[in-house]
Amino acid sequence: MQRPVIRAIIDTAALRANLARIRSVAPRARVLAVIKANAYGHGILHVARALETADGFGVARLEEGIALRAAGCRRPVVLLEGVLGAEQLAGAAVHGFELVVHTPEQVALLEHWRGAHEFRVWVKIDTGMHRLGFRPGELPAALDRLRACPRIRAPLNFMTHLANADARDEAFTTQQLTVFAGLTAGLPGERSIANSAGILGFQAAHSDWVRPGLALYGASPFDDADAPSLGLVPAMSLVTRVIALKHVAAGETVGYGATWRAPADTLLAIAAAGYGDGYPRSADSGTPVLVNGALAGIAGRVSMDMMAIDVTRMPRPAVGDPVQLWGPGLPVEQIAARAGTISYELLCRVSQRVHLEAH
Ligand SMILES: *Cc1c(COP(=O)(O)O)cnc(C)c1O
Repeated sequence: MQRPVIRAIIDTAALRANLARIRSVAPRARVLAVIKANAYGHGILHVARALETADGFGVARLEEGIALRAAGCRRPVVLLEGVLGAEQLAGAAVHGFELVVHTPEQVALLEHWRGAHEFRVWVKIDTGMHRLGFRPGELPAALDRLRACPRIRAPLNFMTHLANADARDEAFTTQQLTVFAGLTAGLPGERSIANSAGILGFQAAHSDWVRPGLALYGASPFDDADAPSLGLVPAMSLVTRVIALKHVAAGETVGYGATWRAPADTLLAIAAAGYGDGYPRSADSGTPVLVNGALAGIAGRVSMDMMAIDVTRMPRPAVGDPVQLWGPGLPVEQIAARAGTISYELLCRVSQRVHLEAH
């Protein structure tokens, strides 16, 4: 079989190194490895296998947890948004998933549960994110109802989510931590607060379980610190190949909309990658790529299947030569910044037609 042209190559050693890094930063916490959205585009099963020493896995959807179980994973799995409806609750019971409970509707589902399974429950408290979770005023009633459910394993556990840790907002984050500590003071049960930014930026947020996503994949959650400075190794290389070379004369334009005009006689390498692969169309001319490992820039608009790269000032590449779109040596954060988005989005929108492989 011919080698696929565009590939996302996952470095499982990097995943393990990032897990080890998180453990060294938060030595007293257990690690719930967050592998929702196909493990941020890295392949949920590849990642679960590479990170089998994680203390548990966090997923957003029931189906993601089921995929783990089907592949033989017996580790704790937490449904980070809980369940929607009785059918999903029954599915969670079959597979022994732990539940985040954040609405009165989810409490009612548990009140009506007649199965034999005892659920382990994480009560989510809204301490300032204002997305999911019980507001402080709603919490006592929810706790009373949950404690009355016979099929919930005591004690209840507690979690919250930080809204501004990635912006290193001390005041906001400290306020969230204070609210959480106040509401859970004296209660038994485990606690979980920190995402990647919370882990790396706020020691006070570590508590019993940390919930890293992005950091496991080797990207920095902060604008002011790159992955190497945080001890993280990018786990995904998005690579493709040169499929054509093209000379353009000074003054000629390149691509849709003719947005790029050659300042001088120019050699372009046309690479087989575009927004159909998940590469952002909003990455403008000059966005860096590595051609044969050397830095070059995109010329003109990214198309669906292709992009043009100015290779005039580098050793002439040949058709078939490798092009790295991001990976070690070209952080995805840099591409995200050029494209007006965040690394999270670029990683998880790598499309189906990209060949995903783990080594
Ligand atoms: C996605 C998610 C995480 C991981 O966040 P990162 O910023 O990727 O580390 C942690 N907790 C919850 C509840 C999440 O939904």
